[in-house]
Amino acid sequence: MASLSLKNIKKVYGQGVTAVQDFNLEIGDKEFIIFVGPSGCGKSTTLRMIAGLEEITEGELYIGEKLVNDVEPKDRDIAMVFQNYALYPHMTVYDNMAFGLKLRKTPKAEIQKRVTEAARILDIEHLLDRKPKALSGGQRQRVAMGRAIVREPKVFLMDEPLSNLDAKLRVQMRLEISKLHQRLQTTIIYVTHDQVEAMTLGTRIVVMKDGIIQQVDTPTNLYERP
Ligand code: ADP
Ligand code: ADP
Repeated sequence: MASLSLKNIKKVYGQGVTAVQDFNLEIGDKEFIIFVGPSGCGKSTTLRMIAGLEEITEGELYIGEKLVNDVEPKDRDIAMVFQNYALYPHMTVYDNMAFGLKLRKTPKAEIQKRVTEAARILDIEHLLDRKPKALSGGQRQRVAMGRAIVREPKVFLMDEPLSNLDAKLRVQMRLEISKLHQRLQTTIIYVTHDQVEAMTLGTRIVVMKDGIIQQVDTPTNLYERP
C-alpha cells in the first residue's frame, strides 16, 4: 500500500513563482525516498507541502488513503526534522521531546513511556534534564529526531538533517538514521545535497530540477550504471 501519494502537485508562491509543478509520486510503506537537485529546485517546498506547512496550489496529497490537502499539520500522520533542529531553548530535552504530544493531549504516562523509549534508542537518556544550549551539535540533532520519533508517525520528513554537523559526525549519524529506518520500519523522505547520503540511505532517489521531477530511480541505477 502507498503510504503517500502526490498527484499533479503544483505550488505557486504569491502571484508569480512556480516552485513545483507536475509532481507525481507514489511512495510505498517503509521506503526511504531521497530528494536531490540544485538549490531552489523545489525540494523544501515539496517537503513543506507534505508536512502541511505550505498550502498546495493544485493537485492532491494523500497520506495512506486520506486526502490531506486541508488537514492541519498536527493532524497529519507525519513528523518533520529540520536542519537547524528548531529546539525550544528554554525547555529541557525531555520537554522538547514531549511538547508535540502534550499539544495533542496525549496522556502523561504515555508521553513518559514514549520519550523514555525514544531517548533510549537515540542514546540521550542521560541528557533529558539538560537545556539545548548544554548539548553538542550531534546531541541536538538526536533530540530533534527524538521529537519526531515520539509521535510515531507514518512518515518522517527530514530536510538536510545532517548538514550542520562536521564530517565525522555526519558519517556516524548517517549510519544511525539507517538503523533507525530499519528499526522503526517507517517511511522516510529525506532531502540532501550529499551524494553519499543519497546512495547509502535511499531506496529510491527523486532528482528534481526547476520544480519538476527529472528522474526517479534506485541509487544503483542512478549512480553506478556504466
Ligand atoms: P530547494 O529546497 O530545492 O532549495 P525551495 O523549495 O526552497 O528549493 O525553493 C523553490 C523555489 O521557490 C525557489 O525559486 C525559491 O526562491 C522559491 N521560494 C521558496 N520559498 C518561497 C517563499 N516563501 N516565497 C516565494 N518564493 C519562494
Ligand atoms: P509540566 O510543565 O507539564 O509540569 P514537567 O516538565 O514538570 O511538565 O514534567 C511533567 C512530567 O514529565 C513529570 O511529572 C515527569 O513524569 C515527566 N518528566 C519530566 N522530566 C523528566 C525526565 N527527565 N525523565 C523522566 N520523566 C520526566
